[in-house]
Amino acid sequence: IMDDCLFCKIIANEIPSSKVYEDDELFAFKDLYPKADVHILVIPKLHIESLDGLTSDHQNLIAKMMLKLPELARDQGLKDGFRTIINTGPGGGQEVGHLHMHILGGKNLPGFK
Ligand code: 5GP
Ligand code: ZN
Repeated sequence: IMDDCLFCKIIANEIPSSKVYEDDELFAFKDLYPKADVHILVIPKLHIESLDGLTSDHQNLIAKMMLKLPELARDQGLKDGFRTIINTGPGGGQEVGHLHMHILGGKNLPGFK
C-alpha cells in the first residue's frame, strides 16, 4: 500500500468506489468519469506503477488480471465484446500511477483520438 496513491486508497476503502469485483489479489470498480456506458478499472492490490514497473515476479498476477477481463465484461452485460486499454506513463496518457486495465463497452464506446 502506497500512502499517496489514489487507487491504493480505493482498495483500502479510504476513498469510496463502486466495486464490482474483489479477490485476494485484484480489485475492480467503476470509473468515476466513464468514457462509455460501461467503464471498469481492474487493478492489482499490489502497488505497481505501470506496465513499466513490471518484473518477472508479476507474471502470474498479470496473467490473472488478463484472464479476469472477459469474465468482468460478461458480468457487466457486454455480450458481444469490449475494449481494453492500458495507458503507460505520461507518453501513454496515464494519469493515476497504479497499474490499471480499463474495460470499456456498451453504448457510446469512443474512438481513438
Ligand atoms: P488513466 O488515464 O491513468 O489510464 O486512467 C485513470 C482513470 O481513473 C480515468 O479514467 C479516471 O476517470 C479514473 N479516475 C480518476 N480518479 C478517480 C476516482 O477517484 N475514482 C474512480 N472510480 N475513478 C477515478
Ligand atoms: Zn497504489
